[in-house]
Amino acid sequence: MFRTVILAAAESSRVARIVEGAPISRAVVRRFVAGNGTDDALRAARELVAQGLQVSLDHLGEDTVTPDQAAATKDEYLHLLKALADAGLTPAGEVSLKLSALGQVFDEELAYEHAHAICAGAAAAGTTVTLDMEDHETTDQTLDVLTRLRADFPATGAVLQAYLRRTEADCRELATPGSRVRLCKGAYAEPESVAFQSAVEVDKSYVRCLNILMSGPGYAMVATHDPRLIAIAEDRAKWFDRGPEEFEFQMLYGVRPDEQLRLAGNGYTVRSYVPYGTQWYAYLMRRLAERPANLAFFLRALKSRN
Ligand SMILES: Cc1cc2nc3c(=O)[nH]c(=O)nc-3n(C[C@H](O)[C@H](O)[C@H](O)COP(=O)(O)OP(=O)(O)OC[C@H]3O[C@@H](n4cnc5c(N)ncnc54)[C@H](O)[C@@H]3O)c2cc1C
Repeated sequence: MFRTVILAAAESSRVARIVEGAPISRAVVRRFVAGNGTDDALRAARELVAQGLQVSLDHLGEDTVTPDQAAATKDEYLHLLKALADAGLTPAGEVSLKLSALGQVFDEELAYEHAHAICAGAAAAGTTVTLDMEDHETTDQTLDVLTRLRADFPATGAVLQAYLRRTEADCRELATPGSRVRLCKGAYAEPESVAFQSAVEVDKSYVRCLNILMSGPGYAMVATHDPRLIAIAEDRAKWFDRGPEEFEFQMLYGVRPDEQLRLAGNGYTVRSYVPYGTQWYAYLMRRLAERPANLAFFLRALKSRN
């Protein structure tokens, strides 16, 4: 119920205007978002890489409604990738991309063309792209674009969401040699017809999907903060004889930072997903929906400023 209400608010432009205009301390947003510009993203990446982590940078913005906005997003990614390479932050730094930010909503072909240009920019910078997964109505389109991108850039990463009933089959489909698949629980409000609703069912699905990815020939990217799932992934790595270079853990910037360092200290590859940009509202709301404690932190900060 709590999660549904917050996720509904994430899609409301009216609530967005209220929250964005509220006198929230920068610290609240900065806990989960690296900053507004490319320099902020680079600074965060530099700090995390110096601590032994890898990063995936995400330029925030998922309400792209014009070709100009889509082109501006593509240009920002190309600029970021060049800056990452110039700063010596590749291949430790890669980028994550939402097709909605490239115009998927109004022109799928345009989004594909921009994503293709970004993959080319990543290849020139010596790194890779992972295509984020959004709500279930875009899953097929996103996987189609992924297939087309992989024809030219085989290392392009996919994201699959364990809460979707279809995901076990998608894992089988994508667990192929050279394939990079990020497995996460899923962050959107989805109907029962397509998605498991209870936490237990989602966790069970996550483990089934993890088994497929960890036993298959592809590269698994285990994206979760859940201690039980992390322990199960460590167990499966031993069971399926996967060395630390054959899979990685991924967590969000600002979430369980000590755990990120602990796992890296134990020899695992750990990638921190670092969002930046001015359009932080929907991203922040999804983080609040995941954890009541995050919401309490947010409300306390709002109150202290009022
Ligand atoms: C790298 C990365 C990329 C992602 N990409 C996508 C994507 O493309 N599409 C998409 O839909 N979703 C994406 N997500 C979000 C994901 O789907 C989940 O919504 C999010 O990760 C929360 O799920 P969880 O697995 O961490 O478990 P949750 O069920 O949120 O938490 C499980 C347990 O983890 C621990 N925990 C969680 N947060 C904290 C915290 N702040 N402090 C301490 N302990 C905590 C607690 O013990 C909690 O009970 C991504 C997540 C990550 C990490």
